[in-house]
Amino acid sequence: MLYYKQKNMKRVYVDMDDVLCDYQEAKAAARAADPEMKYPQSTYGFFANLKPKKGAIAGFHELEKHYEVYILTAPSYLNPLCYTEKRVWVENHLGLDTVLRLIISPNKALLKGDYLIDDLVHPGFEGEHLHFGQARFPDWDAVLKYLIP
Ligand SMILES: [Mg+2]
Repeated sequence: MLYYKQKNMKRVYVDMDDVLCDYQEAKAAARAADPEMKYPQSTYGFFANLKPKKGAIAGFHELEKHYEVYILTAPSYLNPLCYTEKRVWVENHLGLDTVLRLIISPNKALLKGDYLIDDLVHPGFEGEHLHFGQARFPDWDAVLKYLIP
């Protein structure tokens, strides 16, 4: 079954905002279009309509061949729509099966796993953090090269 530990596979958690989806770009574009808009991430459709980051979709599926992969995303908790829209985004871009691998948690340190691919630091996560968007892991190519030698 999809949601049980797969034997002999290490577990990878993949963040959504600015790892799978282009959050910052969408936020900047919304503010450019309407300078009065302080919190685009609190508007209807914001999370459902984020564009995938370059290489993210192919990279996610590539990881699935070698790892037990989950999406681990923290909610924009002031926007209740965010919880639903993240679920919609995953189905639209990664397929319905991947919805079974979507974990929405404000505390990523609670999850047990080997790797976390994330643009933010989550103190307390016991596995290895691949700091996405920084010098060592600037993009999906760098992540795949490291995790699939
Ligand atoms: Mg993020």
